[in-house]
Amino acid sequence: MYNSRMKIREIKAKTILHRTKIPGMDFSINPYIGCQHGCIYCYASYMGERFGHRERWGSFVDVKVNAAEILRKRIERMRKRQGTIAIGVSTDPYQPVERKYRITRAILEVLRETDFRISLLTKSPLVLDDFHLISSFGSRFHLGVSISVLSPEPKRFLEPAAPDPILRLKALAEFNSTQVETFVFFSPLIPGFSDQEGELELIFRTIREFGINRVLVDRMSLYSNVMRNFAEKLRRFYPRKYKSLMEYRKNKRAYLREIKGKIISLSRKFTLPTEFTF
Ligand code: SF4
Repeated sequence: MYNSRMKIREIKAKTILHRTKIPGMDFSINPYIGCQHGCIYCYASYMGERFGHRERWGSFVDVKVNAAEILRKRIERMRKRQGTIAIGVSTDPYQPVERKYRITRAILEVLRETDFRISLLTKSPLVLDDFHLISSFGSRFHLGVSISVLSPEPKRFLEPAAPDPILRLKALAEFNSTQVETFVFFSPLIPGFSDQEGELELIFRTIREFGINRVLVDRMSLYSNVMRNFAEKLRRFYPRKYKSLMEYRKNKRAYLREIKGKIISLSRKFTLPTEFTF
C-alpha cells in the first residue's frame, strides 16, 4: 500500500554487507533504510536519525538502488565466502516499495550463486512473489515471519501499516512443501499485549493450524528510541498497559521467567517446538 505522504528516495549505498554481532549471524544486509510498516515499537527507528531523517518512522524509505551491484563486487573480493547473512534486521525487505524496486530480489539473485546461509525476516506476504527464487536455496534459507499479536485491535494500534498477521502466517505456510527452513519469530513479546492469556493461546493455536513447526521467541528491548515512541503512545492511549510496560522495565528477569513458563506450557500443549533468545 503506497501512502501519498511517504517520502521515497533513491540512494547509492557505499556498503551493503555488514559484519554483525547478532548471535548465529555473521553479516547483515538491509536493502532499504526506513520501513513503511512503521510499527510503533520498532527498535530500528534509530536508523532514521542515523541517516539524517527528521520524518516520522514509517513515513520515509531510502532505496539502495545499487545494492545488488555492490554486493556482487564485495563478494568477489572476499576470500571466504561462507557464513550466515541476516536480511531484514533494520527494515522489512518485503515492505510495499519492494514491489516497485525489487532490491531484495536482486540481492537474493546474487546470493543464490554463493554458499552463504540466509536468514530473512519479514511481515509481508509479498515474499510469495519470490517463492521460486527462495525455494531454490533449499535448506540454507531460513525464512521467518514476525508476529507480536494476532488480534485485530492491538494489531491496528501497534502495527497500523503492516499486513494482517494471518496473511503473514499463510504466506509462510506456503513454504511448508519446500526445503526452506521456516519459523515464526514471536517478537517482540510486548508486555500488556502479546502476553495476555487469550492472545498467547490464540497465537500458538493458529501457528499450529498453519502447520508451521518452529517458533523463536524474543523479548522486547527498551532502547531509548523505543521508550520515546512507544511508551509515550501507551501512556496516552493505554495507561494500564503503560503500567505493565513499566513493571517489565523494573523487573525484567521475573517477568521473563514467568512468561517463559507460560509459553513452554503452550508449546507442549500444541506440540510446537519453541526456542527463546532469552
Ligand atoms: S516491519 Fe520490522 S522493521 Fe519494519 S517497522 Fe515493523 S518492526 Fe520495524
